[in-house]
Order: sequence, then structure tokens, then C-alpha cells
Amino acid sequence: MFTGPDVSYHAKACPVMRKIIFAVLLLLTCCHLPAQDIDKIINPAAVESIEKVLSADNMRGRASFTPDIERAADFIETQFKAAGLQTWNGSNSYRQPFSLIRAKTLSVNGSLDGNLLPAGSIVAVSSEQHLAITEKSGYEKVFIKGGAPFMQEAFKYITQDRKSYLVLVDTSFGKYFARLSGMGGQQFKSGRSVVFVLTTANPEHYSIGMEQEITASKLANVVGILPGKTKKNEYVIFSGHYDHLGVGRPDAKGDSIFNGANDDASGTTAVLMLAKYFGKLRGNERTLVFATFTAEEIGEYGSQYFSRQFDPAAVMAMFNIEMIGTESKWGVNSAFITGYERTDMGKILEKNLVGSGFTFYPDPYPEQQLFYRSDNASLARQGVPAHTISTSKMDSEKYYHTQGDEIGTLDMKNMARIIQSIALSSRTIIAGGDTPSRVDATQMR
Ligand SMILES: [Zn+2]
Repeated sequence: MFTGPDVSYHAKACPVMRKIIFAVLLLLTCCHLPAQDIDKIINPAAVESIEKVLSADNMRGRASFTPDIERAADFIETQFKAAGLQTWNGSNSYRQPFSLIRAKTLSVNGSLDGNLLPAGSIVAVSSEQHLAITEKSGYEKVFIKGGAPFMQEAFKYITQDRKSYLVLVDTSFGKYFARLSGMGGQQFKSGRSVVFVLTTANPEHYSIGMEQEITASKLANVVGILPGKTKKNEYVIFSGHYDHLGVGRPDAKGDSIFNGANDDASGTTAVLMLAKYFGKLRGNERTLVFATFTAEEIGEYGSQYFSRQFDPAAVMAMFNIEMIGTESKWGVNSAFITGYERTDMGKILEKNLVGSGFTFYPDPYPEQQLFYRSDNASLARQGVPAHTISTSKMDSEKYYHTQGDEIGTLDMKNMARIIQSIALSSRTIIAGGDTPSRVDATQMR
């Protein structure tokens, strides 16, 4: 029963009409497998059997860089194999490996037009062990002037393109400057460097040297695909993150394991269930990509790496699934879609669910910026209709990021219903009949 006040997004039909429409939709869904059989594959018992494994204490909270997350990845691989998925790009494994670099500054020195720079006024984001640069090194000289949005500008130079920069930061940002060193702590290996200098000068000549200790750590997404029958080069992605926070301090009950049953073993479970369902159905015209991401909790690194493997124009839609284990603020049989108004994807999903009794709502917590806070963001920034589906009550989710986020707090029946609804709602997109409109990337921050 919906208790939310706003049902204006959702078409209303009389009960008889609704039944007829739903019956027709069910017939249309039919391929090798009657759609009614969705209950045989996606049901509360099947959901629980997967959710239980991922959120068990022996997974120890699936923290990135630990053997625990490797065990979770092994399990996901066996599920992908059983579902009959192929690997991405002919790889011999479902694991999609990559490295993150950690750089520790050992020594640094520099001068601008012959004037030595004081300690603490140089920070580099770089994966180089030895850095020695002058005005002849091909770095573009740019400025962060007083009054500019400091961290936003700095982030832009670090992440957004392929050049190396010398960034001259106005001394009015002195007390924030040290924060930049945190940004170099964890990064993708890169041939480009960004060097920040705290100064009011605009030097003609400069010289900066740095020694760093570099360590690389391995991570892996787990990715499987079902090639499309006729539109192989058009992708529809189903995703969730399988990492969580690991083991921390014990709470009042002595529990130190952050199980992450809802965050995001529930989304990972959904991806595995959908892989199983579509693996049986074998009706997809577009290629389906099932992705479980690592390192979301420490900065969405897994999805950032994943999104670089695609030409964004070839990705027709992304269903990212994050925290669907509890009831939404409207109760059972409903979920919300982040960034709802940015594309017409939500409308397409609703159309495919007319009469089903399930409702997708626009994100009711816009002030929380959830559209930017999950693994859909990397592809959305490139214009892909990439949304996160969730039920999390962000203003009152009791166990969010606590040791209490355990399977006993989740509703398996509702979860099964949500996963079924995601499957059915994606039907016309998978079949190539509907293509959601694109996100306006110029409106993304
Ligand atoms: Zn989280």
C-alpha cells in the first residue's frame, strides 16, 4: 500500500483494464520461457540463498584489498558461470582486473623564477616515482584564483582530461591546500601528473622535483555478458557493487563485522538473479552486461574503471541497483530511481509495469545528491541514461553503514518482487524497441 502523497507520475487504469493490459504484456514478454516462469527463477527463496552467502559473517564485510572480497568475487564468478554468461571481450575470466596506485611523498623541492618555495606549498597527484619538471616539460600552466570553488576546480584538473598541469593556487586557499595531498593517496596509474603550487606568483621559469614511494594494489570488478541476437554492439548494463566496509570496531553488542547485507549485497544479489533469469530467457536483442563493482565504498573506483571500457554512445541504458533490501518510504512494491527527470528511462520502465502493482518513483531525497553518489555516475557524466534504483530511506535507514546491516533486517519477498520488476521493466529496452533519452552531460557536475 502506497502512503506517499504523489502518485501523479503513474497512469491509473480500472482493475479489469489493468488485468487485460498486464496479460497482454506477459504474452509479449514471452520468448523461449513463458514470463510467468519468472517466479520459478526470481523468488524469495532463491534471493535469500544468494544474499545469505554474500552477507555472511565469513565474508567479513567484503572490504576492498582484502582476501574477503576475493572470496565474494569467486562466488559471483560461479554464479555467472551457472547462468551461462560469457566473459567481457573474450577474457579468460569474469574478473576485470585493474590496479590502484598509492603514492607517498618522500621529498619535494621547487622554485619559481629562482625563488625557493617554502615547505608545504607543493602537492602533486602523480604516479611517478621521480618527478622533475620545468616550464619546458609540456605542463599546461593554469590558475585557481581567489574566490573560485577550490576543491571543485582542483578535482577537475585531476580527473577530467588527459593533460599534465601546473596549477598555481592562490594563497587565500592556504588552509585548504593540504587537503590536496589526500587526493593523490589512491589513484589510477596514469602517465599524466598534476602539480599544485600555493603562490600568488605567475612564474616564467619554474623547477619542481619530487620523490615518491609508489605501491600498486590489485582490484577486480566481476563482469559477464549475454550477447544480443541482433544488436550485439548496443549494451544494456545491470550493475551493483559487491564491496563493503569490512571489519571495524565492535558495536555495543560486540559485533565488528559490517556485513553490508543491504549495502550492497542486495544489489549484487539482484544482478546475479537477473543474470540467471535472462540467461534462461535468451531473448535479448541487445547485449546484456552484468557487472558487480569493487571499491565503491572508497571512491567508486570499480565503476570508474568499468565505464572506461565502453564507448558511451554504445551504452543504451544502465540499471544500477543499490540497497533494495528494505521497504521504500512508500512501503512494499515500490522503489525509486535517482536522476529520474534527467532522461525518459523512468517513463519507459513504468510503461512496462502498467498493471503490475509495482511503482517506480522519482528519487525523494534530491538534496542527498544520490545520482552522483553511486556507480551510475561515471557513465551518466558521459551522457549515458544511467540510473540507480533503490529503496533506501536515506533520512532514516537505521542500519546504513553500521554493523547491524544484516540479512535479518531485509525483506526477501519484497526484494524478489523488486528484482522481478526490474527485469520486466527493462523488457522493451532489451528488445531494442525503446531507447531511453540521453543525460545532458553539460548539466552534470
Ligand atoms: Zn555504502
